[in-house]
Amino acid sequence: MLVELIGVNKHFGDLHVLKDVNLTVSRGEVVVVLGPSGSGKSTLCRAINRLESIGSGRIVIDGRELPEEGKELARLRADVGMVFQSFNLFANKTILDNVTLGPIKVRGMAKDEAQTLARGLLSRVGVADQAAKYPAQLSGGQQQRVAIARALAMRPKVMLFDEPTSALDPEMVNEVLDVMTELAAEGMTMIIVTHEMGFARKAADRVVFMADGAVVEQAPPEEFFSQPRTERAKDFLSKLI
Ligand code: ADP
Ligand code: MG
Repeated sequence: MLVELIGVNKHFGDLHVLKDVNLTVSRGEVVVVLGPSGSGKSTLCRAINRLESIGSGRIVIDGRELPEEGKELARLRADVGMVFQSFNLFANKTILDNVTLGPIKVRGMAKDEAQTLARGLLSRVGVADQAAKYPAQLSGGQQQRVAIARALAMRPKVMLFDEPTSALDPEMVNEVLDVMTELAAEGMTMIIVTHEMGFARKAADRVVFMADGAVVEQAPPEEFFSQPRTERAKDFLSKLI
């Protein structure tokens, strides 16, 4: 198992947002997390790399338990790449510098080596010609592809995507999903929160359905979409356009 969540609980004050979540993801697996708004999907992602603390339970990445804080946490966190809904690029840095910053600061990579790596990744996501520009000069779809390149530059063991296409204009959604599909095909372990059901059907090895902070159902996509077992999942699927 590459990622293991064991009995994870999280409260925000009185609100129980993660309820005894157990989830395992094996190496190379693509897990799509579905569920209504407010069901805890983002909190789950943020807990996996400890952007959010947890109340109880364990999170193990590649055999090592995530500590609460400290140097070890920074190192383990670097194994988990994260791409958010908002692109989160550094506005005052060039595209190239956005991608080289992590490898230089966190991985201790030499600048020229980091730049070679970054140019390779920018070319892989189709924005090599944008390297000298600033984020605001790029389209949303291009910025999100840079965000993916930036996460990959840390050579993560697993990539988390939290609604990576939700803030994009419709015509840019596919260019980002295509990059994610390629990553999946190359064997990257991925946990993806998305509302793109077509993508979920095609790319997921497994669908994890959350409701009210709990994992309610897990199944291969063809099974989940054609024969949801719980009322919550049936209700969720019936409301999709
Ligand atoms: P989802 O991503 O599935 O829409 P979230 O993980 O964002 O759900 O939120 C789960 C629940 O936790 C929601 O009820 C939300 O309002 C609440 N919540 C999220 N973040 C915070 C926070 N920082 N403080 C208090 N409540 C929060
Ligand atoms: Mg969310």
